[in-house]
Amino acid sequence: MLLIHCPYCDEERPELEFRHAGEAHIERPTDIKSISDEEFMKFFFLRDNPKGVAYERWRHMHGCGRFFNAVRDTVSDKFVMTYEAGKPRPDGDELRAKSKETNQ
Ligand SMILES: [Zn+2]
Repeated sequence: MLLIHCPYCDEERPELEFRHAGEAHIERPTDIKSISDEEFMKFFFLRDNPKGVAYERWRHMHGCGRFFNAVRDTVSDKFVMTYEAGKPRPDGDELRAKSKETNQ
């Protein structure tokens, strides 16, 4: 069973308690009425969909109910780390350190 760490509950919980909520760190345009249809299309539909490290939003639906962010390797399907929503995207050094922890 896949376990996911909720950064708010600070517990590893079964994946059945969680729901994927799309790509993380998507910024809504500040003046969305004034952007072009093409700019809106890019904001609303286009996602990175990387092969490898992906930044995702998740929600602990059957726990605290809160949204948080996760770094997941889409090739291995392993979570590298999770962190609270609103925190900056982890940098390369932090990811490498967490990746070593999860692969030991
Ligand atoms: Zn939680």
